[in-house]
Amino acid sequence: MSVLVVGSVNADVTVRAARIPAPGETVLGEEARVSPGGKGANQAVAAALAGSSVTLCGAVGRDTFRAPALSGLTRAGVNLAHLHELAAPTGLALITVAASGENAITVASGANARVTPAYLPTDLSGFTHLLLQNELPSEVNREAARHAHAAGLTVLYNAAPARDPDPDLLAHTHHLIVNEHELAAFASGGGEALETQARALLTRGPRAVTVTLGARGSLTVTADAVDRLPAFPVTPVDTTGAGDTFCGVLTAWLAQGHPLPTALHAAGVAAALACTRPGAQDAMPDRAEIAAALA
Ligand code: ADP
Repeated sequence: MSVLVVGSVNADVTVRAARIPAPGETVLGEEARVSPGGKGANQAVAAALAGSSVTLCGAVGRDTFRAPALSGLTRAGVNLAHLHELAAPTGLALITVAASGENAITVASGANARVTPAYLPTDLSGFTHLLLQNELPSEVNREAARHAHAAGLTVLYNAAPARDPDPDLLAHTHHLIVNEHELAAFASGGGEALETQARALLTRGPRAVTVTLGARGSLTVTADAVDRLPAFPVTPVDTTGAGDTFCGVLTAWLAQGHPLPTALHAAGVAAALACTRPGAQDAMPDRAEIAAALA
């Protein structure tokens, strides 16, 4: 029933400007907005809003960005008993959004990069599902997945942002979630169809692979089924956090005992709803809104 997210916590500092500065250039923008972010925190908030009991393991600093980084987690009721406070700066994402909608992001990992396997909870008996991303050191993910796998948890791994695949982590993953770009990091090249690329990963550990396809929905392959889900139709305002909402809600729905096709459907609907409002955590739907859209 209970979800453990091991992942990053950031404060996002966003400035809207006419365009993204070229190297060496200064561009004047509007006022900066500080909001909670980090893939770990985003996914934990999405899962908690979707009605699951969620614990986040990660790290922040003791600086001015700690409070804004934690605001969404606190509001969503995420358990922070395994959140460590370190003598390092809180993770910070510096985001410039151009009038064209393009963005440029620089992430200062700060405390996230200092997380070690020693910070992981040793007793996993209260958890049924583990959710990981790629914003903590690889050895933390690897150890978390190994331990969770051995303890009988279901391990979901969102391999975002893309980085070199870790075969050991993949071997201990039950459900891999990637977008098309991240899938390419796992592919052996050759330009095969998405379904073929996803299916090839089933031999490397996962028993399910989901490829999220933005406005085209998602594709999930398992040993005996292919599930192509069109996107839930919305007029998108801001797609930031869509992937995080998808992963958090998928995990929450599975942890609540729903079968995979139902959980995928709920995740797609929730991610689409998150696209209809600006922001990441601020835009995520709660359980009632997801249920109403599914009805
Ligand atoms: P990421 O942000 O990680 O690249 P995607 O863009 O693939 O992830 O989006 C994740 C999920 O969010 C998609 O699988 C889809 O369900 C939903 N989604 C994203 N963009 C839209 C959109 N324009 N309309 C409806 N749903 C969307």
